[in-house]
Amino acid sequence: MTQIRFYDTPRREKVAFEPLEEGKIRMYSCGPTVWDYAHIGNFRAFLFPDVLKRYLQYRGFVVEHVMNLTDVDDRIVKQVGDGGTTLNEYVQTYIDGFFDDLDRLGIQRADRYPRATEHVEEMVQLIEKLVAEGAAYERDGSVYFAIESFKSYGEFAHLDLTGMRDGVRIDSDKYDKEHVRDFVLWKAWTEADGDIAWPSPFGRGRPGWHLECSCMSMKYLGETFDIHTGGVDLIFPHHQNEIAQSEASTHRPFVRYWMHNEFVNIDGAGMSKSVGNNVRLQDIGDREQIQAYRYLVVTSHYRTILNFTDEALKAASSARRRLNRLANRLRETSCGDGAAASASLEPNAWNEAVQTAEDAFRLALDDDLNTPRAMAAIFGLVGDAERLLGSDEMAPQDAAVALKFLTVTDGVLGFLDDVDESEPEAAVELTPNQQQMLEDRHQARSSKDWSRADELRDLLAAEGIAVIDGPEGQQWTQT
Ligand code: AMP
Ligand code: ZN
Repeated sequence: MTQIRFYDTPRREKVAFEPLEEGKIRMYSCGPTVWDYAHIGNFRAFLFPDVLKRYLQYRGFVVEHVMNLTDVDDRIVKQVGDGGTTLNEYVQTYIDGFFDDLDRLGIQRADRYPRATEHVEEMVQLIEKLVAEGAAYERDGSVYFAIESFKSYGEFAHLDLTGMRDGVRIDSDKYDKEHVRDFVLWKAWTEADGDIAWPSPFGRGRPGWHLECSCMSMKYLGETFDIHTGGVDLIFPHHQNEIAQSEASTHRPFVRYWMHNEFVNIDGAGMSKSVGNNVRLQDIGDREQIQAYRYLVVTSHYRTILNFTDEALKAASSARRRLNRLANRLRETSCGDGAAASASLEPNAWNEAVQTAEDAFRLALDDDLNTPRAMAAIFGLVGDAERLLGSDEMAPQDAAVALKFLTVTDGVLGFLDDVDESEPEAAVELTPNQQQMLEDRHQARSSKDWSRADELRDLLAAEGIAVIDGPEGQQWTQT
């Protein structure tokens, strides 16, 4: 087996990956700020850890994955204040929207989604510890992290801090490199905060955004854990600040590998509300288009900027549908009785070809999750499989081997439609005509009239009935 290598942001190079505990990986991803619906760019930051996790599982690791929900920050406080609602009511809409969108994109759930507002007590304890360590100080009911106290501050993000003015503070959660300052850990209550406040030894207030992630990641994954992910915009100040808070309190390394996804741009421009190109998943289109978006994102390398255009989405959709068509045909052929085809290749040649493709797939992903190269390995086999099927030369056992390859690679990348192998639900009834079509299709398959069987499958699909050929014969589900 080759060595897994990941690009580590602070080291600025690909490094060999070894988890802290053999066979187990602890991973934290910065989650959504639920002040609004997430846009399609945000979902790249959630699709990337999804594929990373699936890949690590494919490589035999147990992965414990935590993603936070930032349910209190400057933007949320402002929106709640403007809208005359409660914080909980306000964020629930966007939390529900977030989980719906995860499901639409086929993103597997993390093990936990801790909410910031449910961990304020632990955050206060962390601040008290930082004050006791001399790394934080209080001013007018707020508490700030003293970046001078943390000698390596700036190294992670490769910032040159010479000439930095000591003792200047910043209260907002988001700021840029021009404003490297002592950042806020606890914000004293102001009138604009309304009811949004928690008690603390420093007075009523609320936690700063950076602190939320330090506190919740260490609570669930330990003081040192393996992988931390997020978009590139979080490198500074968010992740630099997470490191300072965590390491100043534990005196241990916080994270072993930092992995950041690049941005999604739309037609070459950054996404923002003010430009009005803040596209939500549901704006992209129907189920197929949303699946195509997943395909587009996961087959682009996570460290390159992804330019989202209609053409790119169309190309992704057609590649994805091609893979699904192939999977369906392989499913059918693999269930055949063997008389339909005789392998034109030598007995083991096909197995070897599939094995070569899977090796190439794995090697590509071992090399810093190179998904475009992994897709090339898949498509190398797709052409051959289509040719063999087209000339009726694929034996059932060869189809089964190819299908297994597609299923395994799909387990990592998620490009196949869901196939529900379960019995259809009793509540759904076929019309007599649909029943007849199913019977005709069964007859067609028995007499090896594959084109008639395909035609009937398409007719049923057009009526929302998906037919699946499994070991038990044909089954159907409503789509
Ligand atoms: P937020 O909800 O603003 O805290 O962002 C959630 C995640 O989305 C973070 O990891 C961001 O880095 C990431 N993100 C924000 N905008 C984009 C974008 N245009 N493309 C990719 N990731 C993004
Ligand atoms: Zn975070």
